[in-house]
Amino acid sequence: MPLLLLQLRGLLSRKPFLNPCFLYSLGSAFSFSYIPDSTESHYDPLLKSADGLASLRQIHSPLVVSGFVSQSIHLGAQLIAGYAKYGEPTSARSVFDHLIGCGNETSSFLWNTMIRAYANAAGCSYEALELYSLMRRAQVSPNNYTFPFVFRVCASSEAGSLILLGRVVHGEAVRAGFDSDLHVEAALVHMYAKWGEFGDARKVFDEMPVKGLVCWTAMITAYEQAEKPEEALSLMVEMQREEGLVPDSVTVISVASAVGQLAVRKLAGSVHAYAIRNIFLQQIGVANSILGMYTRCGDAQKARLVFEKMVERNVISWNSMLSGYTQNGQASEALILFDEMNDSNVEANAVTALIMVAACAYLGSLRLGRKFHNFVIDRNFTIDKNLHNALMDMYAKCGDLKTACEMFNSINPSMRDASSWNVLISGYGMHGHGRETLNMFSRMQAEGVDPNHITFTSVLSACSHAGLVNEGRQCFDEMQKLSVAPEAKHYACVVDMLGRAGKLQEAFDLIKQMPFPPNDAVWGALLLACKIHGNKELARIAADKLFELQPGHTGYYVLMSNIYAASERWGEVGNLRQYMKDKGMKKPAAFSVIEFGEEIHGFHTADREHPYWEEVYREVEILAVKLKMAGHVPDLSCTLHDMEEEDKELALNLHSEKLAVAFGIMRTESGMTIYLTKNLRVCNDCHSALKLLSHIFDREIVVRDGNRFHHFQGGVCSCNDYW
Ligand SMILES: [Zn+2]
Ligand SMILES: [Zn+2]
Repeated sequence: MPLLLLQLRGLLSRKPFLNPCFLYSLGSAFSFSYIPDSTESHYDPLLKSADGLASLRQIHSPLVVSGFVSQSIHLGAQLIAGYAKYGEPTSARSVFDHLIGCGNETSSFLWNTMIRAYANAAGCSYEALELYSLMRRAQVSPNNYTFPFVFRVCASSEAGSLILLGRVVHGEAVRAGFDSDLHVEAALVHMYAKWGEFGDARKVFDEMPVKGLVCWTAMITAYEQAEKPEEALSLMVEMQREEGLVPDSVTVISVASAVGQLAVRKLAGSVHAYAIRNIFLQQIGVANSILGMYTRCGDAQKARLVFEKMVERNVISWNSMLSGYTQNGQASEALILFDEMNDSNVEANAVTALIMVAACAYLGSLRLGRKFHNFVIDRNFTIDKNLHNALMDMYAKCGDLKTACEMFNSINPSMRDASSWNVLISGYGMHGHGRETLNMFSRMQAEGVDPNHITFTSVLSACSHAGLVNEGRQCFDEMQKLSVAPEAKHYACVVDMLGRAGKLQEAFDLIKQMPFPPNDAVWGALLLACKIHGNKELARIAADKLFELQPGHTGYYVLMSNIYAASERWGEVGNLRQYMKDKGMKKPAAFSVIEFGEEIHGFHTADREHPYWEEVYREVEILAVKLKMAGHVPDLSCTLHDMEEEDKELALNLHSEKLAVAFGIMRTESGMTIYLTKNLRVCNDCHSALKLLSHIFDREIVVRDGNRFHHFQGGVCSCNDYW
């Protein structure tokens, strides 16, 4: 007895004794002669105040003991709803079965409560639908409280589309006369839209006599989630114009997402302003959606402003900002922000890892990429297909094709889909392994995976990089046979391939035959080919088109002035440079990064800011002498200006990749591979210098430039001078 008293005191001190349900549970557990109150009005508030599964069970027990549970449908329904709320659908079902067994089988209220309980619980769609058919068999008529939940189950099924069943139940709702109930209609709109049946969704929606904001928003959201942003926005305009309804915070979330899909900055500004005026931004869901809208519009700066002003941030806010930076080419900003995230109280998740791995791939930093791979392992994140592909892509883009292949081989062959094949194929292509790319491409098809437009872009560009013209032509024909319609990017690859191989006229003819107007990528490929082969006439045509299509793009002007420079037409070079100066255009700054051990060093052209620049310059001079002795003839056409020969040579020596390589040779042990990343294409002179340096120092030099990888070894480059 003293032990029981002690236990009692212990329990009492944990649970406030004001909570009467505790005593009831004691009553049943220890068979005290306590008679529970048997009025509905007594239990009702108790059930309502139950704040967890434990207290719910404590109230449940005496109801069973007293047998009162079988007499009150109302209390039974509350128990069912309570168990469902705390994730115990099985307990809910046993209460339901008990009540039905006690002669309550005709109560549609009970059936509805149980169907709703299943609809609200995760993974119970099968049970919900089975119960609905049992209800019909028991000849209980479904009503406007039944149908919305059945439609919701049909919409949210995790086991695939239940749209056929949904249509049958829709027919039953019509026959039962509940098809014009607001809630039934709203659920129907949601169900049809969820499975992409926009015609049916819209039909139900249009026939609704009264729609209300909830229904309009459901339809707008449906379009937005199906990536039909134009429809979503025009419906919102219609809602305001025809019904005088104003968007609430839920509507704004969908509208912001739709604007993000359209990527129209001007619209983004007005949605943002609307959210500010209506004080919606304090809601984290709205703020996240405005933030996501700006990043999708490519405006990382505005996104950052929203991010900074957020009262509260969750992992979605951080991920959204990180991916905004990565997608807008500001990967280094993403790395800085990631450190801030680590110092915040928000934990990174697998999505964060995915974004950061992509940032490393963009930067080409193998060291950082490995760091994030370890981060994924340390945190025990589940590596799903997307993350696995992102890691493979990172290794391929950071020059470690071996690890990328190992990761690919670790995927079960039956699980390899087009996206995993694409990562590997583009990896091989980037490294100039044209034949292997084609082998992969055949293997992919042999394993029954259909190539898509991304696969063809990678294969065509690999053919172009490896000079495999016939194979490329074949692949282009194959596309059409597999009814993958060639897009501008595919034409650009073929033009590039033909152009590099010196088939400039064939490339130009292909452009003329294109079924849609060629874009800047297509003309740009032709211009580059003209530069390689010194064809000034076609270059002029391509350049004119480019200046018209992309008047602010500096790269094309630089390329054209290089073409003039190569043929020593200094007058034209001067005119072009004057034009660029007048328009305030600057040549994009070349930048090379070298990584070894834990160190990362960046150099721009003629860098005098790097802490060791003087030593680097001395090393560059030594290298220049060694190169000359080995027979290197500086390619002076790689300089822009009409300057003295000697100055030209000096300018060439100070190209960023030469500075970075000189630094690498100075600072790393002999025989170690040197890894460089350059933001722009490597020039001819640097390319032949790097080839010779790899021979002189017997070192492999790996360079990822703006287009592809170059592996310099033993005096040759993996690109076969084809880049
Ligand atoms: Zn160069
Ligand atoms: Zn190369």
